[in-house]
Amino acid sequence: MPLGGVGEIGMNLYLYGYGCQGAYQWLIVDMGVTFGGEFEPGIDVILPDIRFLEEERHNIVGILLTHAHEDHFGAVPDLWPLLGRVPVYATPFTAAMLKSKLGEMGVYDDDFPLEIVPMGARRSIGPFDIELISMSHSIPEPSAIAITTPLGTVLHTGDWKLDDNPLTSAPTDEARLREIGRNGLAALICDSTNAIREGISPSEADVAATLEKLIGQAPQCVAVTTFASNVARLGSVAKAARAAGRELVIAGRAMYRVIDAAQATGYLDPDLTFHEETAFSKIPPHKVVALCTGSQGETRAALARIASGEHPHVSLRAGDWVIYSSRTIPGNEKAVARVQNALSDNQVEILTDQDDLVHVSGHPRRGELKQLYDWLKPAVAVPMHGEGRHLEAHAEFAEDLGVKQVIRARNGTLVRLLPHPAAIVGEVPVGRLYRDGAVLTSADDGQVRDRRKLSFAGIVAVSLVLTTKGELVADPEVALTGLPNTDAQGISFAEIAQDAAIRTVQSIPRPRRKDPALVSEAVRRGVRAALNQAWGKKPVCTVLLTVL
Ligand SMILES: [Zn+2]
Ligand SMILES: [Zn+2]
Repeated sequence: MPLGGVGEIGMNLYLYGYGCQGAYQWLIVDMGVTFGGEFEPGIDVILPDIRFLEEERHNIVGILLTHAHEDHFGAVPDLWPLLGRVPVYATPFTAAMLKSKLGEMGVYDDDFPLEIVPMGARRSIGPFDIELISMSHSIPEPSAIAITTPLGTVLHTGDWKLDDNPLTSAPTDEARLREIGRNGLAALICDSTNAIREGISPSEADVAATLEKLIGQAPQCVAVTTFASNVARLGSVAKAARAAGRELVIAGRAMYRVIDAAQATGYLDPDLTFHEETAFSKIPPHKVVALCTGSQGETRAALARIASGEHPHVSLRAGDWVIYSSRTIPGNEKAVARVQNALSDNQVEILTDQDDLVHVSGHPRRGELKQLYDWLKPAVAVPMHGEGRHLEAHAEFAEDLGVKQVIRARNGTLVRLLPHPAAIVGEVPVGRLYRDGAVLTSADDGQVRDRRKLSFAGIVAVSLVLTTKGELVADPEVALTGLPNTDAQGISFAEIAQDAAIRTVQSIPRPRRKDPALVSEAVRRGVRAALNQAWGKKPVCTVLLTVL
């Protein structure tokens, strides 16, 4: 049962249950976040609503993480404390990243039940026999999970692609996948992200070669931006810099966190030499490569600050290059364009994956999906990790490949995988939580909806003071935020609001003015109507009434 990640890219959280109907033991696979956009003003992080799991907390046997991307493990610090010290299982690199994240958010202590599982290992977790299978992706140690119970084996792919030369942890364990297929796989729960794209994605090694060629040709300073978690890519940039006789400067805090975890677990050369950003100005431009965070246009990341000339240590000049070794995640287009325009204004050259092979996706295209289905020959397929159109393309593709049964699930759908036939057998409530400042709230709480309203038409506050007889003690005070100053005739909106408040109070027969709720509501409506007439928009209006 997915609680997040099916019908969206992000917020992955899957439950595997075993037992009699209504009395299942649950294994949680992944616990990820998604990021807020323009539709969620003030919200950086969005998490799956786990009210179902909170009720089932006594039946949870563990949390198993497939890899250390935010959409798979980013919700652990916020949600784990709600579930009562459930053990968390992760491979060494994922565990190192998790520890650093938990530490930063003040959730980690020596008693935290984190069990490190080697790549390719087997474990018993509750009634489940778990085997991690090495895959390729855009981060070290992506694992598929084969889950075996007395009823049979199902396989959850996590995020994956096929890459013979991923330049980081072991390549896809083809031999083991073929073996699982031969033994009979009951169901495949599989990544749909690139199910619309034909062909096979190029290798990380092809990207490394391109980066080396480009950095070798650059006339002066080169900056490269990529996803901080793409350790193979960081390594490729470091190698390309060395080959070109350039020094590597790292700009951006997120890069350091990943480099620490990768060096500690053996995925980056411990001798890799790099400089902190303060060294940038001391190295001649044609002798430096700056590796920067901010490929998604994040305003506080290094590249945005460099582009706007606000970075304290790193600056780019006309003729310098910026290589976007990344893809713009849907929704970030405007933010990325803003940074790229600022770079262009300073005649900095921009190279993206439109120009050259400087990025590959970490997800399987149709050619790779076909290969995996050939190896595994699952009896049932359940597409996951995708928006609606990705899931449907994957479902149809699996049917074309001859999979007997394809289940179209969504968040909250309880699917019986075994015994066959597979079927949708239930539905549980799902939703979203917002991390709003230091508070975790339900997306249904409404404060973000209010912010959207405020962003459209602003707010007017009116303060009235009445005597017990219903006389105004003084003219009402008004405070306007987010409105224009004056209407088309030059009359101030503050004056319009104040006049409307006075007129409304006077229009209420005196005996009825003793009802504060009635007066407040009448003034609120009167002020909004007057402003709407002058402006054509209705602001939020709040009335504060005092009776002396
Ligand atoms: Zn991933
Ligand atoms: Zn993912």
